[in-house]
Amino acid sequence: MNTPTARSSGQIVVAGAGYAGLHVALRLTTKLRSDSQMELILVDRHDYHQVITELPRVAGGTRAADAVRIPLQDVLATRVRFVQTEINGFDLAGRRLLTGAGPIGWKRLLLALGSRPNDFAIPGLAQRTLSLYSASDAERVWAAASKALDEAAAATDPERQRRLATVVVGGGGATGVELAGELAETLPEVASGHGLAPDRPAVQLVEAGPTILADSSPQLIDKATGILSDLGVQVRTNAAIAAATDEGFQLTDGQLVEGGVFVWAGGLKAPELAADSGLPAGHNGRIKVDQYLRVLDHPEIYVAGDLASVTDPRTGHVLPPLAQVALEEGETVARNLDAELNDRPLEAFTFHDKGFVVSVGPRRGVADIAGITTGGHLAHLLKDAIEWEYRQSVKHLRGWDPVAR
Ligand SMILES: Cc1cc2nc3c(=O)[nH]c(=O)nc-3n(C[C@H](O)[C@H](O)[C@H](O)COP(=O)(O)OP(=O)(O)OC[C@H]3O[C@@H](n4cnc5c(N)ncnc54)[C@H](O)[C@@H]3O)c2cc1C
Repeated sequence: MNTPTARSSGQIVVAGAGYAGLHVALRLTTKLRSDSQMELILVDRHDYHQVITELPRVAGGTRAADAVRIPLQDVLATRVRFVQTEINGFDLAGRRLLTGAGPIGWKRLLLALGSRPNDFAIPGLAQRTLSLYSASDAERVWAAASKALDEAAAATDPERQRRLATVVVGGGGATGVELAGELAETLPEVASGHGLAPDRPAVQLVEAGPTILADSSPQLIDKATGILSDLGVQVRTNAAIAAATDEGFQLTDGQLVEGGVFVWAGGLKAPELAADSGLPAGHNGRIKVDQYLRVLDHPEIYVAGDLASVTDPRTGHVLPPLAQVALEEGETVARNLDAELNDRPLEAFTFHDKGFVVSVGPRRGVADIAGITTGGHLAHLLKDAIEWEYRQSVKHLRGWDPVAR
């Protein structure tokens, strides 16, 4: 390579302490001990890492928001410099992040800033719906559902009571399914506590496409649909939302979906910051990278996680925004930064699909692993095990040696 190596200044900046960014920071920690020249700076607006995959449980009231916030000071070594600040832009020519705490120069930069909800420019959606991409979002969903049930209990008009006690979830992907399942299981008990009949709360899942969990196997979709139906979730497919109004979701076929709480889980796109960066944008505003996960024409900048637009050569499709993808990409970036420090050749990124697991309520789930589909309690245990393993890995990654592996 004809670009300066990371070693020549020693300053590696990781922007974003989510799945990809934290993984890289933890992976490179060992290097700090053996290389006194190297400086590793991690930048995030929060001083905690969010276990986003557990948000549906917070939104369903079965887990506290603080339980999915891991304080960064508990997992970062003292030699990692953490800067809690908002990243506002980039000075690409000067190789600096522009932040609320002032500019931060980099020799190598990892961009791992995640996603934000995509409202597909549907009128009223951003203003009238809650979203689910942070622990605070999830807390808001639970608070809104509880408040709506409170108001429903006080309502004397049965029609108004029915409307208030209905939570409408837009988007039948994994997030929408997990959220609908959690709420359907927990709301009846809350309703009883408010003096409402346990069957008064209703959860509706509204999906524009012909099926929930699009792109999954028909068996998985059948099993998930069966569990949702068992839980009383009303699934409406081929139901595209034209607008969100004060009355509810106005569908393109003219129907109105009424409710007391509306949550949008229908898609994600790259943060605005990425769109304004001048870096090459691909699918949904994600940043285009080469096989080593470096930005095209900017080999000093790596991108990983939801923000990276990476095409899977086996399918020809861009990899989905998943924690499992973010962690694998983080692994490749950590190895490549280490390779640069040691003048070794870079590794190309290859995705190893570990399968797909979705919880449907706090007790059941569905899973497609190695071509085998399971549904029910076992799949939920699998999801619990994945989440447990992730939390363990965050605690133990600091002792990593990429060459010994
Ligand atoms: C509800 C829900 C459930 C999910 N469940 C699963 C699942 O079960 N399995 C799975 O594989 N995937 C799941 N996902 C997807 C998964 O959470 C994401 O793919 C993953 O979080 C992406 O990791 P990341 O590192 O790219 O971004 P993130 O984990 O989102 O991290 C981005 C970080 O950047 C910081 N940041 C962003 N912008 C700025 C800024 N301007 N200034 C400072 N800091 C900034 C944020 O604070 C955050 O810490 C789920 C997603 C959602 C929303």
